[in-house]
Amino acid sequence: MPTTCALCRRIVPDETISDPQVVQKHHLRPEDRAESPTVMLCRPCHKQIHAVFTNEELREDYDTITALRVAGRLQEYLDWIRNTEKLDIRISTNSRGRERTG
Ligand SMILES: [Zn+2]
Ligand SMILES: [Zn+2]
Repeated sequence: MPTTCALCRRIVPDETISDPQVVQKHHLRPEDRAESPTVMLCRPCHKQIHAVFTNEELREDYDTITALRVAGRLQEYLDWIRNTEKLDIRISTNSRGRERTG
C-alpha cells in the first residue's frame, strides 16, 4: 500500500519504498520519544522539518501535524515540494542558518 506523507500529502509509491529511507517516522515531540505520537513523512519533509525547527520548537509549538502544515516557515517549501516528484533533497541552510539533521 502506498504511503501518504502526512505533511505534503504526496503519495509515495510502493516501487520507491524498496528504499526504506524514503518514508521516515517522525516523532512529533522529539525529546519525548516514548510518549510521542509519530507520523510518516517522506524523506524531504522529514529533513526539512529538522532543518527549520529545533527539537525544542517542535516539542513546544509544532507537536501536531496540523501545526506543521500551517507553519509559516514551511509554506515556501511545501508549495515547492508538492509540485515535484522528488524523494531526496539537499537542504541548503539559508538565512535562518540552522544546520540540524536527524
Ligand atoms: Zn512529504
Ligand atoms: Zn523527526
